[in-house]
Amino acid sequence: MVDATWGTGEPPRDVLGPAADPAFDADHPPRKELVADCVHCGFCLTTCPTYVLWGAEADSPRGRIYLMNEGLGGEPMSDSMVAHFDRCLGCMSCVTACPSGVQYDRLIEDTRAQVERRHTRSPRDRALRSAIFAVFPYPRRLRLLRGPLRAYQASGLARFTGPLLQRLSPTLATLESLAPRLRRVPPPPRRVAARGSRRATVGMLTGCVQSAFFPDVNAATIRVLAAEGCEVLIPPSQGCCGALSVHNGRRTEAQRFARKLIDTFERTGMDYFVVNAAGCGSSLKEYDVLLADDPRYASRAAAFTAKVRDLSEILVELGPVAPRHRLPLTVAYHDACHLGHAQGVRSQPRALLNGIPGLTVREIADPEICCGSAGIWNVLNPVPAAELGDRKASTVLATGADLLVTANPGCLMQVASALRRQGGRIAMAHTAQVLDASIRGLGAEPLLRQTA
Ligand code: SF4
Ligand code: SF4
Repeated sequence: MVDATWGTGEPPRDVLGPAADPAFDADHPPRKELVADCVHCGFCLTTCPTYVLWGAEADSPRGRIYLMNEGLGGEPMSDSMVAHFDRCLGCMSCVTACPSGVQYDRLIEDTRAQVERRHTRSPRDRALRSAIFAVFPYPRRLRLLRGPLRAYQASGLARFTGPLLQRLSPTLATLESLAPRLRRVPPPPRRVAARGSRRATVGMLTGCVQSAFFPDVNAATIRVLAAEGCEVLIPPSQGCCGALSVHNGRRTEAQRFARKLIDTFERTGMDYFVVNAAGCGSSLKEYDVLLADDPRYASRAAAFTAKVRDLSEILVELGPVAPRHRLPLTVAYHDACHLGHAQGVRSQPRALLNGIPGLTVREIADPEICCGSAGIWNVLNPVPAAELGDRKASTVLATGADLLVTANPGCLMQVASALRRQGGRIAMAHTAQVLDASIRGLGAEPLLRQTA
């Protein structure tokens, strides 16, 4: 690491003492004892997508922890320091790989919150982030986009505007290419009764992107839960869970969303809170940390967190009662980072898929490497995100599977976009849709029609 005074004729920083305005203030800086857990072994390097792309130490987990340590030592928050933090996808592959148990997830979350409060971004970056956060965490605003988007998709204009947008603005081109093909699906009811005797009462998160762009995944999730004996509660007033905000350092906004979600669900009498989007699930399981300093909500958040389950977790916990029908399919299962790395949920989706007669699960090479979606990372970093998407799409196609299955809307959109770019073809579905097709005896055909 080059000292900030290098080449200026000034004495080096260690002679000057700490910078006048150190990178971090006292409001939840990255914790020194967690930084000290890193023994610099480098086992995490080859699992880090940005290190794989660029091979630069400062764009590795170890390098970023080093930069945090510099900040804690009094270095100022320079543009280059922020750039290396911003380039982190938050995929948590390094958490899985680290033999020393370094809690990089906690470190980067605290670091990002400091960056958002203390660093002045460029006007373009500020405008882009403001636009994203004025729309993405608001399901109603996102749903308003459905009409114009459907009309645009039906017009076939994308063939002409795509290349132009790519030249004018890679960010807009990325947004355009990510949009999934939309179908009309009625909104879910407030409550769906369990089929047969009730085994559990579950609240269900409908999500922002999931409810606006993948309502059929929510519909499948509700049917599967009901078929497995769950009464499903789906209050229409629920909003965003705050995942996008907390993963981008907007802690106050995330806390506001979290409090509202707790208010909405805690009086429903639910036994569990079920999530079918990996990114949302990982932040919901950390509400206890997010609201730990709030005397009104700390214990309520802890109680709420204890009830959160990914769909695959609750289904395995309860055990199957609904008969499965044959699905003659070969599927490639993609571990969404926020399900595999952040929540450690890997065996449950595979167990559920392997429980379907006629279905074979194939593994994808380099499963630990992110597809480049990472919340809004692909919108903020369109060029490297496309490169990661292309790598993932190639490994998916190499499996020779009929169907790609994953549990996160962002991954589905990112891999679908890369497949379209490569001219590849594979059907895509959420785990819930595969289970739903099997339980209802629909056969493989409807799933195989869901192409990128
Ligand atoms: S979270 Fe992902 S991108 Fe960030 S340092 Fe860890 S492995 Fe690299
Ligand atoms: S694997 Fe863990 S201990 Fe080793 S360099 Fe990476 S973060 Fe540090």
